[in-house]
Amino acid sequence: MTRHYNFCAGPAALPAPVLERARDELLDYQGRGLSVMEMSHRSPEFVAIAKQAEADLRELLAVPDDYRVLFLQGGASLQFSMVPMNLLGNGGSANFLYTGIWGKKALAEAKKLGFATHLAGSSEASRHTEAPQRADIELAADAAYLHYTANETIGGLEFDYVPGDEEGGLHRDDGKVVPLVCDLSSSILSGPLDVSKFGVIYAGAQKNIGPAGLTLVLVRDDLLDRRCERIPGLFEYRAMAEAGSMINTPPTFAWYLAGLVFQWLKRDIGGLEAMDAINSRKAAKLYAAIDGSGLFSNPIALRNRSRMNVPFVLADERLDKPFLAEAEEAGLLNLKGHRSVGGMRASLYNAVPEAAVDALIDFMADFEKRRG
Ligand code: PMP
Repeated sequence: MTRHYNFCAGPAALPAPVLERARDELLDYQGRGLSVMEMSHRSPEFVAIAKQAEADLRELLAVPDDYRVLFLQGGASLQFSMVPMNLLGNGGSANFLYTGIWGKKALAEAKKLGFATHLAGSSEASRHTEAPQRADIELAADAAYLHYTANETIGGLEFDYVPGDEEGGLHRDDGKVVPLVCDLSSSILSGPLDVSKFGVIYAGAQKNIGPAGLTLVLVRDDLLDRRCERIPGLFEYRAMAEAGSMINTPPTFAWYLAGLVFQWLKRDIGGLEAMDAINSRKAAKLYAAIDGSGLFSNPIALRNRSRMNVPFVLADERLDKPFLAEAEEAGLLNLKGHRSVGGMRASLYNAVPEAAVDALIDFMADFEKRRG
């Protein structure tokens, strides 16, 4: 069996030790004579798995006690509607920073549901190559929260700062603190994070957390009472928090695998500081190779270059196809850019080893020598 290097943007590579452990436990979970997939979500075995996963995540991210951790379904995309439904019950507008495709979708969904929206900052003038600076953010007078995408997975633009003030959000002109809501789908767990700067954090699992089908939401307690009255029970953060994310059947196997990923991060990697250093090294190498070449280029401002998703183009588009075909032959998978933008994209999530990046860099240099 050969496992190739997988640069997919999501569902993405999973750590080999996690898959091996899941394989070993697949038919018989710890002598219980059944797999995790076949257990009741209310059984003591699964409840222990669920609790351990939450405890490990809390430890990794140093999640303060006044935050609830929810294990939900519907993907990050469902949060585009759940966030306004849960935070706009007392009125006010949803404010957005627009730095790429995902942030735009979040805004469009809030608007579609009939909520008041306000564009508080944008990177459109730079064609999404440079994130807005703190001083450029203009909140609406009635802003109820500010939503942004920490890392735009398709454009490869990552915020180099948390756009909040000291107290868990930003100050409106009237002095009120507006909580920050952050889509961290493609950069959560890539390094340490100060959770206390945010009101709500959410992330689809299929990049740095585990398999698709699970969505992680962290929400500060005081925000649980801002929900709109008439929303489906499954969409209510408060109801989900009170039910331990088990109003109905949760995605048990994905939750279990996420728990294994958290243990891998703790034990094999040594925590998020260590992960951070590895990720910085991986990204720096690849960007250096791109910048040093005459064939490949990346347009993002240095301060906003994503560590997780590295889009690049070839100087001659006609070389795209051979590049992808030869890469695949060399065991370097899923380097094609998103269908909406074309070009290439190498996603360097936590489970992509440094050796994969080295192999990609060698391949790119060789390709340029032969075809550039
Ligand atoms: N936000 C970001 C930043 C993403 O990268 C993605 C998926 N690539 C989404 C939201 C949507 O996630 P999902 O497919 O889980 O709905």
